Amino acid sequence: MKAIRKFTVRTVLPASLAALDELAANLRWSWHEPTRQLFEHIAPELWREIGTDPVALLGAVDTARLESLAQDDGYVAWANATRDELREYLEKPRWYQGLEGDKPASIAYFSPEFGIAAALPQYSGGLGILAGDHLKSASDLGVPLVGVGLFYRAGYFSQAISPDGWQLESYPLLDPDGLPLSVLRRADGSPVQVSLALPDDRTLHARVWQAMVGRIRLLMLDTDIPENTDELRLVTDRLYGGGGEHRLLQELLLGIGGARAVKKWSSLNGQADPEVFHTNEGHAGFLGLERISSLIGEGLSFAEALQVARAGTVFTTHTPVAAGIDRFDRSLVRRYFETDLLPGVAVDDLLALGAENFADGNPDVFNMALMGLRLGQHANGVSKLHGEVSRVMFKGLWPGFDAADVPIDSITNGVHAPTWTDPALLALAQNRLGTSDTSEADWASPAVSDTDLWQVRGQMRRQFVEDARRRIAAAWQDQNPGGIVPSWIGNVFDPDVLTIGFARRVPTYKRLTLMLHDPERLRALLLHPEHPIQIVIAGKSHPADEEGKRLIQRIVQFAADPELRTRIAFLPDYNIGMAQLMYPGTDVWLNNPLRPLEACGTSGMKAALNGALNLSILDGWWPEYYDGKNGWAIPSADSAGDAAERDRIEADALYELIEHQVAPPFYDRNADGVPERWVSSIRHTLATLSPELNAGRMVRQYVQKLYRPAGKAEARLAENNYRAARELAGWKGRIVSSWPGVAVAHVESGGVATVPQVGDALHLRAHIQLNGLAPEDVTVEVVYGKSLGNDDLTDVIAMPLAAEPFVTGVTDAGAPTLFTGTIELDRGGAFGYSVRVVPRNELLVSPAEMGLIAVAG
Ligand SMILES: *Cc1c(COP(=O)(O)O)cnc(C)c1O
Repeated sequence: MKAIRKFTVRTVLPASLAALDELAANLRWSWHEPTRQLFEHIAPELWREIGTDPVALLGAVDTARLESLAQDDGYVAWANATRDELREYLEKPRWYQGLEGDKPASIAYFSPEFGIAAALPQYSGGLGILAGDHLKSASDLGVPLVGVGLFYRAGYFSQAISPDGWQLESYPLLDPDGLPLSVLRRADGSPVQVSLALPDDRTLHARVWQAMVGRIRLLMLDTDIPENTDELRLVTDRLYGGGGEHRLLQELLLGIGGARAVKKWSSLNGQADPEVFHTNEGHAGFLGLERISSLIGEGLSFAEALQVARAGTVFTTHTPVAAGIDRFDRSLVRRYFETDLLPGVAVDDLLALGAENFADGNPDVFNMALMGLRLGQHANGVSKLHGEVSRVMFKGLWPGFDAADVPIDSITNGVHAPTWTDPALLALAQNRLGTSDTSEADWASPAVSDTDLWQVRGQMRRQFVEDARRRIAAAWQDQNPGGIVPSWIGNVFDPDVLTIGFARRVPTYKRLTLMLHDPERLRALLLHPEHPIQIVIAGKSHPADEEGKRLIQRIVQFAADPELRTRIAFLPDYNIGMAQLMYPGTDVWLNNPLRPLEACGTSGMKAALNGALNLSILDGWWPEYYDGKNGWAIPSADSAGDAAERDRIEADALYELIEHQVAPPFYDRNADGVPERWVSSIRHTLATLSPELNAGRMVRQYVQKLYRPAGKAEARLAENNYRAARELAGWKGRIVSSWPGVAVAHVESGGVATVPQVGDALHLRAHIQLNGLAPEDVTVEVVYGKSLGNDDLTDVIAMPLAAEPFVTGVTDAGAPTLFTGTIELDRGGAFGYSVRVVPRNELLVSPAEMGLIAVAG
């Protein structure tokens, strides 16, 4: 019989074990190994079976066991000491507290998904895991972040595989009472709610769950409450579930509801509202509109409010893949905002923010990424290469500028080392190097021998192989209820064979099946008599992506071959729990996306932190960090004739690399059975990549490059009742209306010999038509560099020209203003220059910011 209602009854712990409740309530247990060991000790088998989740463990364990631990003085003291350590972690000043100078007192971090622990499945893939790692590192560094997201009743989905290899989705409902969450309440105990006005006089209500992630609070909005109609209760049913209107409702709730929730949370905590808002991908972009609406409520105009909201907003773009960007029907967006949803904001002003008003743009859509860029003065991509790709991709918003001038910076992603480093490697760092910080440990030190490293790698491979067998056996039993698990499953994977991992979501560009390009070649590599390999594969396809499901099916069918099934396997239901064993257990992490569509990719980083070597296309983070010793680069056939040709060339390169460069050194052992060359690559990877790939590096960069400047910019604009915001809005209005008449009238040069030589000084005189603007409203600059055949300049340098004082201020408003300057010709070869005019205001972050430029010629 099926239950009609389910709820979780919390265990009442014996008084002497109260520390366990406090420890279970803070998700810091998900990355703090000593806390995990404390819980594991209660019931080690059960701990593993329920997916290493303290709340579930305390609910499931025998009361008798708890009673006996409550009498055990040693255990009670251990629990209390662990709790005291947590309290100290939560209170002691950390990196951020030691920073000198201005810094935001509160930063709100918005994301549609957060992957923090297997026990809280509110993520689909990389974006969510990254958001979880960002919160955890912010906690470790003491950065005053507050996370904002949604609580999805069914998370993403659970994946099973049918006997013929087809992905099956199920949506088990989560019970928030059984999770480490609490409802946000006022002092009188009543729950806090936010509400949004909808068309047809409907209202969407949400309650707010809060999770504690170390020092960081994560707020999650949930519409499954009786105040909503049945239909609206389903708004937060699933992550990335519906399309169109359902998705729009989720994003309105995340952005607008989230901004309202964080305000309520701040005031309940006696804190200032966040000064900086960080929105991840376009999904949360409506938060900027909510801020504009409340500033309009304080008496600002839309244009003035926009300056303030922009100044304090950081927008991170996470993908160059068009399908990853939300675009809504403009008419749908109009319908939702022609309501009381955002008091004071005119719908046309709002629609302009998401307009694709450039060549190739679609006039009927509202583009969330474009709104993100228009509402965020500070923007970045997630690797150096992705920064470059994004500057080209979004160039249309800054017409007239070269891609290099587009104001989108980059900060390369990182991963949270304590979450993703295997306890066995941590123990090695503690025992041999005397540190619990694996990302800063001196892995080059002889205190860790080659044998030590190799043994730990072997231990991690073995524990992964055991986990894989358990999972495959469980999946077989699901498919064959009541049957006896066949014996071959006990031989899936060999703990001594070179293990290659490939796990990630399954969008087409990641090319799950590239390895199957030549099935016979792959078979030969798997069954090689001296240098065999084995491959573990996992990943979910979006439920609506039939193509992705077909890719999974091809892998599953290939792996069903009785000769191969112990060497290659697809593990269903990829998630954090599986990943935490898989990255450490693989020797080589494979990544073969279609370059440059992988914005960063983080699974290879997690593998590297455990001493796995990367075998990857030079995409995402890899071109920045590949150094010839930490893995292998699969060449990209960018100039291949078509996609099929490209796949063939890249797959061939992959097989060649595995056969001749990857497998042989793995099996090249010394007298002690240690592959010295391989181990030296492991050591090199750990020593050089761990500090770089750790999310601590990433979060520090966000603080320094984006959060602090954003906080400062917003504070400047807000001072004296928003004086600078009003001035800036007025100034921009003037610039925009005068700009069509601004021009480089003509440029004279002199000072060089007929045959110019190195050392000559080139004097420039540029006559600029300012159309009523003052010389200090603009920067006039000469842009010079190497001139190639097609007149394009490379290696360009920009140097400002100075307005000539005796010409400025002349009454004849129509006359051009003279700007002059001198360039020293300091290198030989083809030289070229041009002159350009851009708006100048110290409150702009980049000369390109307004997308206005006038150039000579
Ligand atoms: C790290 C991780 C991802 C993201 O991997 P990419 O290489 O960035 O695609 C997805 N899912 C899980 C469970 C992960 O741990």
